[in-house]
Amino acid sequence: MSYAITLTTHDNQQIDFTCEPEQTVQEAAEEAGFFLPALCKVGSCGSCLGRCTQGDYHLNRYSPSLLPENAREHGDILVCRTHPHSDLHITAPYNASQIQSAENALRDAEIISVELIAERTTRLVLQLLPDPEHGIAFEFEPGQFVELEVPELDLKRAYSIANTPNWAGRLEFLIRLQPLGQFSSYLKETAKAGQRIQVSAASGTFGVQEQSLAPRCFVAGGTGLAPFLSILQRMADWGEDHPTQLFLGVNNEQEIFCQDELAALEQAIPQLKIEICVWKPSATWTGFCGTPADTLRAYLATADVLPDVFLCGPPLLVEAATHIAVDAGINPERIFCERFA
Ligand SMILES: Cc1cc2nc3c(=O)[nH]c(=O)nc-3n(C[C@H](O)[C@H](O)[C@H](O)COP(=O)(O)OP(=O)(O)OC[C@H]3O[C@@H](n4cnc5c(N)ncnc54)[C@H](O)[C@@H]3O)c2cc1C
Repeated sequence: MSYAITLTTHDNQQIDFTCEPEQTVQEAAEEAGFFLPALCKVGSCGSCLGRCTQGDYHLNRYSPSLLPENAREHGDILVCRTHPHSDLHITAPYNASQIQSAENALRDAEIISVELIAERTTRLVLQLLPDPEHGIAFEFEPGQFVELEVPELDLKRAYSIANTPNWAGRLEFLIRLQPLGQFSSYLKETAKAGQRIQVSAASGTFGVQEQSLAPRCFVAGGTGLAPFLSILQRMADWGEDHPTQLFLGVNNEQEIFCQDELAALEQAIPQLKIEICVWKPSATWTGFCGTPADTLRAYLATADVLPDVFLCGPPLLVEAATHIAVDAGINPERIFCERFA
């Protein structure tokens, strides 16, 4: 027995396929030749978040912070964890163009530099190598991420792109070095200029909503700044003077990074305001003391117009800031999240 699945994308395109009860909707879609955006495929990253608007299903185990009880009540699902008990209608937050017809092809790139730019933070710069189909060009939208793969170590991790699309095939990343983390150890001990690494196609739906007139509030935890640098650089390049507030959170002053880039962006975008929040500052720190969630709460309490809120970084920060934004009266549909799960 199989069930009919109808998936409607953000741009109102419909795809149809069938799913056996023992399959997840993600697996059935892939079997039918639709590679839906998804990353971990085990319910821990949230990249396949969708909503079931009709039908019965059950979800395999997933990280509870991704689907709070009220979200489940509204029919929110993780496509990679969903098994149908009936025909299903699902809405997805991405456009049809983001559904691929084949598994993500990897591109070869060369490491240009890997540099420690603050305590536990690395900037990795890559140069795409030419391939017959694309040359050196690499298409992405500011806010998206790629997967970086080191085949000889059987190692693959997702990283948000920190620069803007360019014809030179250059990609920049800001990566937090996690103690004992595998990719972190590779960056610290092995990665060198001139070595090869593989890059997936860009993925994800995180990014600004061009049609919204609301002010923008960006909240970044550490290297969660990466997609915002890309988005802000695009705003600067296009002369887009949208009222925008960025809160960047770090643990201590030694972890502050990209100050020159942020100062240049503040110059280039007149309505951009940036606040660095230090959680455990030294006695000499004169800026904001606390987490970016704390500053978000204070900012929303006095905002004349409620902003669209964009959250990126560690899941705990994203969850805390989501609650604060909802409590302040922001419609959950105007809260956009990228969790570095
Ligand atoms: C869409 C997306 C975009 C992302 N973008 C970025 C980005 O731009 N910048 C960024 O810094 N990160 C980003 N991340 C996070 C990134 O993908 C990695 O998860 C992160 O870099 C850690 O990878 P790692 O291999 O170093 O650590 P892992 O090996 O995956 O380990 C992660 C942590 O778990 C601990 N750990 C591992 N194994 C065990 C164990 N057995 N027991 C206990 N603890 C353990 C490690 O000590 C480490 O602290 C993103 C994630 C997603 C999903």
